[in-house]
Amino acid sequence: MEFKELVKGVKIPVIGMGTFGIGGEMSPDTSHDKECIAALRRGIELGMTHIDTAEMYAAGHSEEVVGKAIRPFDRGKLFITSKVWRTNLKYNDLLNAAKRSLKRLEIEQMDLYLVHWHNPDIPLKETMRGMEYLLEQELTRFIGVSNFSVEEMKEAQSYLDKAKIVNNQVEYSLMRREPEKELLPFCQKNEIMLTAYSPLGHGALVKKKIPLLDALAKKYNKTSVQIALNWLLSKDWVITIPKASNIKHVEENFGAVGWKLSKEDMEKLDKLVI
Ligand code: NAP
Repeated sequence: MEFKELVKGVKIPVIGMGTFGIGGEMSPDTSHDKECIAALRRGIELGMTHIDTAEMYAAGHSEEVVGKAIRPFDRGKLFITSKVWRTNLKYNDLLNAAKRSLKRLEIEQMDLYLVHWHNPDIPLKETMRGMEYLLEQELTRFIGVSNFSVEEMKEAQSYLDKAKIVNNQVEYSLMRREPEKELLPFCQKNEIMLTAYSPLGHGALVKKKIPLLDALAKKYNKTSVQIALNWLLSKDWVITIPKASNIKHVEENFGAVGWKLSKEDMEKLDKLVI
């Protein structure tokens, strides 16, 4: 596995595992738990030890599946991220939501806790004070945000006394390039990790025929999926979290690390319009 430095002395795998759809989507569905647990465990064995989940996924069941999947592993070797949903952003609601997530995950502390989406009906100041309290209580090691613009990130940071927002998780892939305009340069300048979610376009990138990806896959003896993920990981301050619910996909995604696209091929992909 390759790592990037989240903050000084703390490394995070460049490729982790997403879990939206694991344990159900909007409500719990236990019918595929066994395969999903096996897929997550295979990923951890391979070094994809960053697992991303959220209280909203499968109404909490996704966190329960992650909790079961990680049970046999050394907690210290894992990096667990979860997120608080936009309706739970008042101070006390936030604390209670974090405690419920920890219980479902069967862990004492999260590595990273994110505000899933900004909610304009709840003062961001109250939310960020709550996030800082979670840090003080050691219920999470780091805090961050998701789906925040540069302006929202600056505002959120301004309400924190000592803590730093270390991460913004946003949609970023060969199909969704918006972060490149403002957000990614801001994160790079301020040393904030950007986690690229839906790196495979929620699966759409896999289904689409994209001649440049096919040609590069042939050239590097990799798959189109591996080319698309490697392109993301080659960007400074970017990590990613593809979701895969079967072992074959997990193994393929893992093959996106350990090699490099040439500068010219990176440039071709940078210019690709899908
Ligand atoms: P994604 O990772 O871009 O795509 C997932 C889809 O691609 C699944 O259908 C999966 O199928 C398929 N897939 C994965 N690896 C594959 C492979 N090697 N070959 C062929 N198909 C493959 O989409 P995503 O789930 O939307 O995003 C990833 C994670 O980001 C989520 O799970 C979640 O943790 C996070 N996320 C966060 C937010 C947010 O608001 N913060 C929003 C969306 C997503 P199988 O399941 O069958 O393997």
